[in-house]
Amino acid sequence: MTFDLTGRTALVTGSSRGIGNSIADGLAAAGATIVLNGVDQIRLDAARDALAAKYGQARVLASAFDITDEAAVAASVAAIEKSTGGIDVLVNNAGIQHREPLVDVSLQDWRRVIDIDVTGAFLVGRTVARAMLARGAGKIINICSVQTDLARVTIGPYTAAKGALRNLTRAMTAEWAGSGLQINAIAPGYIHTEMTQKLVDDPEFNSWILGRTPARRWGTTADLAGPAVFFASTASDYVNGQVLFVDGGMTVVV
Ligand code: NDP
Repeated sequence: MTFDLTGRTALVTGSSRGIGNSIADGLAAAGATIVLNGVDQIRLDAARDALAAKYGQARVLASAFDITDEAAVAASVAAIEKSTGGIDVLVNNAGIQHREPLVDVSLQDWRRVIDIDVTGAFLVGRTVARAMLARGAGKIINICSVQTDLARVTIGPYTAAKGALRNLTRAMTAEWAGSGLQINAIAPGYIHTEMTQKLVDDPEFNSWILGRTPARRWGTTADLAGPAVFFASTASDYVNGQVLFVDGGMTVVV
């Protein structure tokens, strides 16, 4: 039962929709109690109700907070720790995109992307790790991107943020792996979600993706569930600080 997550609690940030929601669904299917998160309370409640119908209300919780708000993160993580007995798995998934040529990007937009895509993972990661370190166990999964390794026009802040998130994964590993925590990252390729809907609808971009991806298709959010279960379970107990690209092969071809 290496992949069994029964009895574990997993907090997935940004799980009211998209990739985070599918990862939470996958962790629950493997037996975990899941805590969904997002900022929009109405969307979050709807997501909780949908997954509770599948796995039961006791195993599907929701906590609305902004991952960049230090006080809100502290209060929410403390409340989740108390009500569940402890967070065993943290998935730092919440993230945003901003598309604009780099020369036109305002400092405000730059900071917004860096804040949510890197600083949020640091804040939630640091707060949850304090309790994990005290228990001597825990799994942290940071959701990176192919832009962790590769650049592309018009997404400079995101590319910088996702590269930083890869190295944050390494920094967390350097400091916390000796205390029984495993911190790894998943780097999704182009996945069809609300974030990428405009790209899917753009015939030129869509055909570029299909030509550029050896698997010849967009990823689905469900493609991320298996890798997340692996990193959340005892199957990955000696895997530390790695980035797993789940991208249909995009990053291995030119
Ligand atoms: P979506 O835009 O579909 O969903 C984003 C989620 O993050 C929502 O639940 C949203 O909550 C939440 N969120 C945004 N800001 C905050 C915040 N400050 N605090 C808490 N929650 C927040 O995104 P995707 O599912 O497409 O992407 C998820 C992750 O995967 C991101 O890190 C993204 O960079 C990464 N990724 C996505 C790829 C893709 O092709 N889609 C490819 C590679 C990586 P709310 O509903 O309240 O706004």
